[in-house]
Amino acid sequence: MWIERCNNQRCRRPYQVNEFNGDGSGQLQPVDILCPHCGRSEVRWSESVFLTHALSCDEEQEINQRQGYFGTLKRRAWRYPGVALR
Ligand SMILES: [Zn+2]
Repeated sequence: MWIERCNNQRCRRPYQVNEFNGDGSGQLQPVDILCPHCGRSEVRWSESVFLTHALSCDEEQEINQRQGYFGTLKRRAWRYPGVALR
């Protein structure tokens, strides 16, 4: 299990990726990694199957804070009080 961030510029939300063993043939196949938030898919060649999973609000916030992403939004909202913080 690991965390990836969506490559859709309008989304950029983090999500959890779980890797499962494929059919054991050892052959690389194009596998979709699907963002659970916006549905953007990213194809990766792998023997495994990947399942994605949205993070809980708390987990997502913690990751965004750690990466300074949410902090930027907060500072912006502070400067422009009329802008709603989503
Ligand atoms: Zn997305």
